[in-house]
Amino acid sequence: MPQPTTVLTVQPKKMSKQAQLVELHMLNTGIRLDMRYATANNFMHRPLYKQPRCLLRAIVAEQLSQVQSDLEADGLGLKVYDCYRPLSVQKQMWKLVPNDRFVANPATGSRHNRGSAVDVTLVDRQGNELLMPTAFDDFTEQAATDYDGASSLAKQNRQRLQDAMAKHGFTPLITEWWHFDAANWSQFPLLDVPLETAL
Ligand SMILES: [Zn+2]
Repeated sequence: MPQPTTVLTVQPKKMSKQAQLVELHMLNTGIRLDMRYATANNFMHRPLYKQPRCLLRAIVAEQLSQVQSDLEADGLGLKVYDCYRPLSVQKQMWKLVPNDRFVANPATGSRHNRGSAVDVTLVDRQGNELLMPTAFDDFTEQAATDYDGASSLAKQNRQRLQDAMAKHGFTPLITEWWHFDAANWSQFPLLDVPLETAL
């Protein structure tokens, strides 16, 4: 069994500026939000968040904002599905899908629980999603970043997203084309602060 790591249930008053949770929308209004876990449009088929908020560690939000700027220069942008996720929500997900290929075991936690991971896709200037190999939270092998059976357009878009994210230090998860970990994720502890009281 993996050893549980430290979990903070409140944000410490003294936290480095980079580590503070911030609302992504306060930093960048261009990034579109589609916070699926605040709706029933997710694999749990019920809302898990009381509020549709994208919170991230300040440095991660800054890096994502830089990705957005790069994409906007090419007429594209980001749409975010999930950001910081309280550990208690991770436990609910694990109960339904206890398979660490798709859901991180809450014993060790997800990088989302550290405020250091994002689920994202690409959109055009009008906010239409670009074609990708699968929909978000599709727990099949077609969602893998190395899945070769998708159309060439979907593969091209997936690569474009990966390249844009990699330029600012984000690394993809092999099983989910939409998931990216920030370069600094290991610096930050797991959090179980509810979204509605986090800021
Ligand atoms: Zn994710």
